[in-house]
Amino acid sequence: MIDSKDVVVVGGGFGGLSAGVALAERGFRVALLERKPELGGRAYSFEDPDTGDQVDNGQHVLMGCYSETLDFLRKIGSGNNLVFQKDLEIQMLARPGRSATLRTARLPGPLHMSAALMRYGHLSLKERFAAARGGLRLLKLRRRDRGALERMTVTELMNQLGQSENARRAFWYPLSVATLNDEPEVSSAGLLAEVLMRAFFSRRADSAFVYSRVGLSELYCRAARSFVERAGGVIARRAVVEGLEVDGGGVVERIRLRDGRKLEAANFIVAAQAEQLIRMLPENLVADPFFQRINQLTTSPIICVHAWFDREVTRSAFVGFIGTTTQWLFNKRRIFERHGERHPGYLSFVISGARRLVDLPNDDLLDLVLSDLSAMIPAARHAKVSKAIVLKEKQATMAPTTDSHRLRPGVATPLKNLFLAGDWIQTGLPATIESAVISGRAAAAAVAARA
Ligand SMILES: Cc1cc2nc3c(=O)[nH]c(=O)nc-3n(C[C@H](O)[C@H](O)[C@H](O)COP(=O)(O)OP(=O)(O)OC[C@H]3O[C@@H](n4cnc5c(N)ncnc54)[C@H](O)[C@@H]3O)c2cc1C
Repeated sequence: MIDSKDVVVVGGGFGGLSAGVALAERGFRVALLERKPELGGRAYSFEDPDTGDQVDNGQHVLMGCYSETLDFLRKIGSGNNLVFQKDLEIQMLARPGRSATLRTARLPGPLHMSAALMRYGHLSLKERFAAARGGLRLLKLRRRDRGALERMTVTELMNQLGQSENARRAFWYPLSVATLNDEPEVSSAGLLAEVLMRAFFSRRADSAFVYSRVGLSELYCRAARSFVERAGGVIARRAVVEGLEVDGGGVVERIRLRDGRKLEAANFIVAAQAEQLIRMLPENLVADPFFQRINQLTTSPIICVHAWFDREVTRSAFVGFIGTTTQWLFNKRRIFERHGERHPGYLSFVISGARRLVDLPNDDLLDLVLSDLSAMIPAARHAKVSKAIVLKEKQATMAPTTDSHRLRPGVATPLKNLFLAGDWIQTGLPATIESAVISGRAAAAAVAARA
């Protein structure tokens, strides 16, 4: 006999775990299935056997405006693992000795951001005014005709806002690539407007960076799992879901696991990547227009290079690079609360929207990052690398194309008891942790409403 409180959640990333926790809180009995040996999905960490350091698959940065994620982390008891910047402060290097900081002022939003732009030394005075005016015009466009922005690329938007080449290179594009994870020529201006609105032109605290002082898996996987298990739920790893079995009335009856087991439940949430969801569907449903649209979503890669040097080459926790292939350097000594002291020279480098580079050999990517580092921070030329790991996430996030707006589904599906979660669900945000958590909680609320 199926109990109306039984829910199967497929996927153990931020989307699935936030759904599981929200359901557990509401008294549902959750069975969460993850195909990999560990939870975490596209945001995980592992221990490096040589150094003992926690290595994230890629440095993740949250922002003050990630209200659902911050609430989720506090709920599972992990809030104290987060470091909050008081105000947004990002050091950007254009070349050696050419450093400028984007620092918001202690003013109410959005004045705090306008003031940051006015003091940003990589732009001429004229460019600073033009960027601040551009930001305000963009917000006005968003209010008046969101659809027009969604059909426009970031490059087209820059043309419309009359932004100079230098302003794009030193301000708009680093912001766009970091938050949308793709090249400005293909990224949707609508998504950039959403990020600007929520993160940079709202409250002062919303713009500040938030990061984890522990490895990503330690930040949320264990704590979320305990939360679900304490409420009587089960979390199974190495549990590969192969298919959904659907009856003639449009209801999912059970799911089929690769090991032959079948699980029944009153409701199902699939919080796996879009491509994985399509694989689970019975053949007749793949052709359904709802799922056809999902099938057209594409992805964009991120490359992360971790390197251990024999010394610390910068005191900043993170630095943005302008004009090099490498976009960001994260100084793990300044970020991690433990280990950092033992390995002062542990740095992570990030290249987002890395479509053109992702198939290069790892050694070439390491050389590229090291040469960018030497060009930007000459002191690093004397530092020796003792170890490096190159991680390529080929399908890091949903590509933020102009088409994505019409292709992303909501949490409900044509099947009455099947709900979806994941960063690619239509949340209005780019595919980020916050989008995954919003969708997970929304899917849980939809299950509760149905039950
Ligand atoms: C390198 C990198 C850097 C990033 N940086 C940032 C950042 O700075 N800030 C930010 O907000 N976001 C960032 N992101 C994006 C963020 O990681 C994702 O948005 C988020 O982790 C997605 O969570 P999810 O639950 O939607 O999906 P996933 O984490 O992909 O979870 C889906 C899970 O479903 C499982 N699954 C799939 N198929 C099956 C099956 N058949 N059976 C059982 N289980 C299955 C998968 O194994 C996976 O664990 C970054 C991503 C990457 C890769």
